[in-house]
Amino acid sequence: MRGRTHVAGGLAVYGALALLGVFSFTVWAIIAVVFGALLPDMLEPAVDYTHRKFFHSWLFLIVVIVAGFVLKLFGGFVGSLIALACLGYAVHLLMDSRTPMGLPDK
Ligand SMILES: [Zn+2]
Repeated sequence: MRGRTHVAGGLAVYGALALLGVFSFTVWAIIAVVFGALLPDMLEPAVDYTHRKFFHSWLFLIVVIVAGFVLKLFGGFVGSLIALACLGYAVHLLMDSRTPMGLPDK
């Protein structure tokens, strides 16, 4: 899956959550989501079809979601930005999980 597809997915989910009032619409928020959406393939570049390891796993997805919730609730401004990066990251992994390769467990 291409980087821009992940960015589009992350921004779509962020936009929906922002419309619901969960996040505010800011340039910083958009930058954070885009960074988070691209980060998994920066950590584990798609050099071949087995590139998905720990940072593309279901286990790490759970870690990212929990960290995102905690940071959003208790992290203030910076925590909220990191939570948005977690959102982009989580959407990336969820999109990858829908491909034939799927995600490894851990
Ligand atoms: Zn990926």
